[in-house]
Amino acid sequence: MPAERPRESPAQRALHKLGLRRPIDLALHLPLRYEDETRIVRLADTHDGDTVQIAAAVVGSEIRPGPRRQLLVTVDDGTDRCLLRFFSFYPSHQKSLAPGARIRVRGEVRGGFAGRQMLHPQFRPDTGELPTALTPVYPTTAGLPQSYLRKAVLAGLARADLSETLPTPQAWSLRAALDFLHHPAPEVSLAALEDRSHPAWQRLKAEELLAQQLSQLAAKRERDGLRAPRLPATAGGVRDGLLAALPFALTGAQQRVVAEIAADLGRPQPMHRLLQGDVGSGKTVVAALAAAVCMDAGWQCALMAPTEILAEQHFRKLADWLAPLLAARGRGIAWLGGGQKKKDREAQLARIASGEAALVVGTHAVIQDRVQFQRLALAVIDEQHRFGVAQRLALRAKLAHAGQEPHLLMMSATPIPRTLAMSYYADLDVSTIDELPPGRTPVVTRVVHEGRRDEVVARIGEQLREGRQVYWVCPLIEESEAIDLVNATATHAELSDALPGVLVGLLHARMLPAEKKAVMALFTEGLMGVLVSTTVIEVGVDVPNASLMVIEHAERFGLSQLHQLRGRVGRGAAASACVLLYSTGDAPRLGETARARLKAMAETTDGFEIARRDLEIRGPGEFLGERQSGAPLLRFADLEEDADLLAWARELAPRMLDEHPLLAQRHVQRWLGGKAEFLKA
Ligand code: ADP
Ligand code: MG
Repeated sequence: MPAERPRESPAQRALHKLGLRRPIDLALHLPLRYEDETRIVRLADTHDGDTVQIAAAVVGSEIRPGPRRQLLVTVDDGTDRCLLRFFSFYPSHQKSLAPGARIRVRGEVRGGFAGRQMLHPQFRPDTGELPTALTPVYPTTAGLPQSYLRKAVLAGLARADLSETLPTPQAWSLRAALDFLHHPAPEVSLAALEDRSHPAWQRLKAEELLAQQLSQLAAKRERDGLRAPRLPATAGGVRDGLLAALPFALTGAQQRVVAEIAADLGRPQPMHRLLQGDVGSGKTVVAALAAAVCMDAGWQCALMAPTEILAEQHFRKLADWLAPLLAARGRGIAWLGGGQKKKDREAQLARIASGEAALVVGTHAVIQDRVQFQRLALAVIDEQHRFGVAQRLALRAKLAHAGQEPHLLMMSATPIPRTLAMSYYADLDVSTIDELPPGRTPVVTRVVHEGRRDEVVARIGEQLREGRQVYWVCPLIEESEAIDLVNATATHAELSDALPGVLVGLLHARMLPAEKKAVMALFTEGLMGVLVSTTVIEVGVDVPNASLMVIEHAERFGLSQLHQLRGRVGRGAAASACVLLYSTGDAPRLGETARARLKAMAETTDGFEIARRDLEIRGPGEFLGERQSGAPLLRFADLEEDADLLAWARELAPRMLDEHPLLAQRHVQRWLGGKAEFLKA
């Protein structure tokens, strides 16, 4: 008979959902906070707002009928009385709370002298015995009761291997720290536990940061052990030709990052570099120069962008710059997009396989299985945060044949704040363009209530009369593309009416690639005055003549997203503006985080400052998104608060890898388990 597979209970499933599989995972699942059930407080000593535990006898119990049935229970602890109020209750409640019962009650006391109350307090029969330690409250999820989780954690703690991995003895051993945090002694101050300043917490945070540093450093070293084609810069090739043909001179910052990248490309180890620079700082030409170095060395380069429009725009720009130079050398540029005809696609694939296409530009299509490069040496990924780890891995696999890896250049307009760079991206080399091309005037940003929409439309008319163009971005409603579309369509009709004689275009996510292309072409060529769009113009679109951007329902956008959108204007010499239209819906005012975002937008145009504030508003978890970064997020440590622990971990990690490789491996395994693999992408 085939063995029956043991069924997972719902609680076990919930445990797994939280990533709690091994005993050590449970042991490292630390309390969110604690409840003090060790003490009984006299009712007469309580004040309005105190959360307390009392021991009392039930002296009255009644159900008050009405639209909201309530169970009202009066208790007396000998010093005073208190009314317990329950809006939802079962017959079992009534039984346990029958007059005469002796109970312990925990909750927040409301009211004082005139009569104390507790709303939905916790209660249990009073056995006369009090717990001796604070009661931990763990982070949990639906279907996983605290009581079950507590038992599971204790079992995990008993079974886990907690032998030390730190090479030098610490004041608090890991075992002592965990024992303490899972059941702290009653005399410990709740405050020290909850702000995580207690030495036991410090020990755990240090451990966590060390695991992160070790795994990143190990990934970096592993990569340093890999081989990549050397791409030395040569004179008189495509690169020099491009530099000579450019209609502008590179900024100092561009020159610096170009040199950093060229130095990497000249080495036989794969480059793993992030090029960050604010929107409009000129990353494309840097990518083109890197590609040129690669092509001059006789290899192929791939450039991948997250959207069809953006990839297409790169293709046009790069073709402008590079096609004549390549043609003179018998080579060319291939295009791979989603909406391509089969025949065209086959032709492009053949050019890539033969090596005639020295540069391949496209969307995700670039990493599909059927794409065979003859000799790929450099992959450039624009807006890298839009791609997942799997896609980066797929690109790397494209050069697998020679036992070599391609060089990787990732570009991003969302700069990584320094603290994050030191922790989450410790294995990445970073180049920063910290200077905008000359002649740009900063974009003026206004936050305007939806009620003044008419004024905004009038302003659009003025811009158009000056020969400028305008973007109007419509609200993003994540759950429903259909509603997005209704909004955008209505706005399109409204603006077409209000601006007779002006070509107003509409661009949204559901259009076919060819339709999008046609609309974009009209706007790029200056024939279309206003472009109404859902967020498809978010990244990279470059139309220097556009000088006004209106963002409708700006309160619904994230800060980085707003900043990206705003970067579409102010790309030419004309003074540009961004209007953030907001609405509070039925509420009297905007929520706090929405207000903080709009305020940040109005106050600064500096991408680094925006990123810093975004991090502050959202926290690193959301800022990075675990899937995109591939880096495990910190659960306990706080990068700002625990800067000294981070410094300690950064200092220890390389020594530990050199001198205690086995301890280092055990440490990473303990903290990250299977996740460590992910970091290599
Ligand atoms: P991003 O960094 O946002 O990708 P782009 O590469 O699209 O920026 O560049 C924005 C605009 O600035 C483009 O029109 C580009 O041609 C132009 N540009 C880039 N570098 C310079 C420069 N050094 N001087 C003047 N214009 C530049
Ligand atoms: Mg760009």
